[in-house]
Amino acid sequence: MPIEMPRGLPFSVDTWTPNSGRKRHHFLTHAHRDHLQGFAANSSYPIYATRITKLLTLRHLPQIEGGLFVEIGVGETTVVSDLEGDFSVTALDANHCPGAVMFLFEGEFGNILHTGDCRLSSDCLKKLPLKYMTMKGSETCLDYLFLDCTFGRCSITIPSKESAIRQVINCIWKHPHAPVVYLACDLLGQEEILIEVSKTFATKIYVDKAKCPECFLSLSLIAPEILSEDASSRFQVCEAFPRLCERARAKLAEARAKVLPEPLFIRPSTQWYARGEDQKSEPRGPRLSEAERDEFGVWHVGFSMHSSRPELEWSLQLLRPRWVISTTPPCRATELEYVKDHCSGAQLATDGPIWRLLGMGTEKPVPSPAAVSCCSISSSALVAAAAWGGGGSDVLQTSVEAVPLTLFGRARMGPSDRSSSGVEAFAAEQAVVSREDEAPLPSPSRVGSPSAYNASLRGLYRSMNVPVPRPLPSLVELLEDSKRARIGL
Ligand SMILES: [Zn+2]
Repeated sequence: MPIEMPRGLPFSVDTWTPNSGRKRHHFLTHAHRDHLQGFAANSSYPIYATRITKLLTLRHLPQIEGGLFVEIGVGETTVVSDLEGDFSVTALDANHCPGAVMFLFEGEFGNILHTGDCRLSSDCLKKLPLKYMTMKGSETCLDYLFLDCTFGRCSITIPSKESAIRQVINCIWKHPHAPVVYLACDLLGQEEILIEVSKTFATKIYVDKAKCPECFLSLSLIAPEILSEDASSRFQVCEAFPRLCERARAKLAEARAKVLPEPLFIRPSTQWYARGEDQKSEPRGPRLSEAERDEFGVWHVGFSMHSSRPELEWSLQLLRPRWVISTTPPCRATELEYVKDHCSGAQLATDGPIWRLLGMGTEKPVPSPAAVSCCSISSSALVAAAAWGGGGSDVLQTSVEAVPLTLFGRARMGPSDRSSSGVEAFAAEQAVVSREDEAPLPSPSRVGSPSAYNASLRGLYRSMNVPVPRPLPSLVELLEDSKRARIGL
């Protein structure tokens, strides 16, 4: 779920709201639909994106003028002229889906890496300029990291993409008599699986253009050589939704009734992980090292386009950014050990560059360094949150108080949110992933709900994108503080 950039930055990333429209430059990391929400024919120019992202976007939204886009190649650096000072931007592979990139911005505002959606790997990170790789004890060069924290609090080990693809291939090897291999890989971002299967079995793959238009388009852009037009091909892409299980069960029953070898159905997805919770008769979690068959006959493999929690922690240790802002709600960056240990309120110097990023220039929203206590950090957090360019943003965390305090963050869900089990949290993560990459789970349970506070007061705090504090300070007073800071009193 993309977030708005703070007021002090001249560009937007993946957001197409009226607020973002007022920015002078726009960046699109990739063409998943949740990153195109609000994208309209009158979107502001210029929009920087890779060629593949541009083409996929134009296919989704044919009313858009191609001339709105400025193409930027993976690995390429462009200097953007801006009235407040030129800045450079470098596009780096995000290991997420075709055309997906992270953007590294370097300018007066500091050094900012925006990951968009990403599956961070050493290959991705080593494309960054060397100065961003911190040795132990060395000074960091990265001021702000806008990070895809989708699995920031998921304790389950997610196999690497390579491992998941190997599992798909092994599953096919183990079923040599299957007359048809149906691969439920019709989502943008699953093309790698199809390419590797095609290479391994030296075969083309049939994709029904009418049923899987997005998959057909992305493959015709990045690997047209693997596409077959023969509907009787052994390898076929099938839709994961709707009702894959029912379709598979019917085909398998038909083969059994005719005493013929059964076809093979394989579905790589992140949703498989949450399954263990739903199966009361089979309480263990899903196996993650090999494909597993469900009761309908579909073989499942865990495949993720987002970084696992260990990958996030490892990347943070390497980059050691000063601040981490999660682009995925709610407050997921605060779950990461690195953020807990290094992104604290102690960094909130009154003359720190962060105030400029927030569009506050030299105004000092915090009265004096001496006054930086728990209470004033609370105030400054609210001031900062109010200065953010319009809601929906996530988190910088301080650990000054027993109850974590967040800057620019959405409100926490309440005490029960913290006590949720890893698997419950994971199920909730699935709901988020579902919005972007996949159809929803049958019954994803949202974890926790605030109950201790008056509903309208909670709503008010949340509308300011700050946590519901304990005890509640005077909101009126804090709003007044915010107003005074903005008008420079
Ligand atoms: Zn995405």
